[in-house]
Amino acid sequence: MAKLLFSREEMLKLNIETLESRGISVKDIAQIAFKQQSKFTKDIAYSDCVDSVEKILSLRDVFHHLQLGAEIDRMTEEKLFRGPIQNILASDLGLFGIDELVGLSIAGLYGVIGQTNFGDIDVNKPGICQALNEVGKNSSACHTFMDDIVGAIAAAASTRVAQVMNENVANTDPRIKSFTIYDYNDEINS
Ligand code: MG
Repeated sequence: MAKLLFSREEMLKLNIETLESRGISVKDIAQIAFKQQSKFTKDIAYSDCVDSVEKILSLRDVFHHLQLGAEIDRMTEEKLFRGPIQNILASDLGLFGIDELVGLSIAGLYGVIGQTNFGDIDVNKPGICQALNEVGKNSSACHTFMDDIVGAIAAAASTRVAQVMNENVANTDPRIKSFTIYDYNDEINS
């Protein structure tokens, strides 16, 4: 029987391989997260951004979004879609919006702030997001979905770093029992 369920280590490895096959590294994504969160939170560490990107890349939800988005981009490059959607995807039509929906879905794993942080990256296109967008629009390569997926993972990582740092501050108060609303789901926040 075909394998359907992958461990978190396997999903992380497969996601990194897929990103690399599209010219993207964990560092590219961590740099966007670092730049974004540095505006809001003092003394954030770049290494925490790398750790957060890796955690997020190991989540099953993110695995499914990233693997599907990468395949849509590849199939668009290979002209495998039929009907008007082939040209809409290949031209990265601004009003298409389903790629941003995928981005919002990933960023939403880290709440409303994750989504507003994704909106910032979507509009301002820092670093690798701008590079993917330009290459996708000016060559036969298609990054229609991947630019949003990368931006959303950066936004999620930026948000996660802020959440972890805020939890650490809260937990330094001895009157506060060390418990967060996220404790029920270590999958997402561990
Ligand atoms: Mg896009």
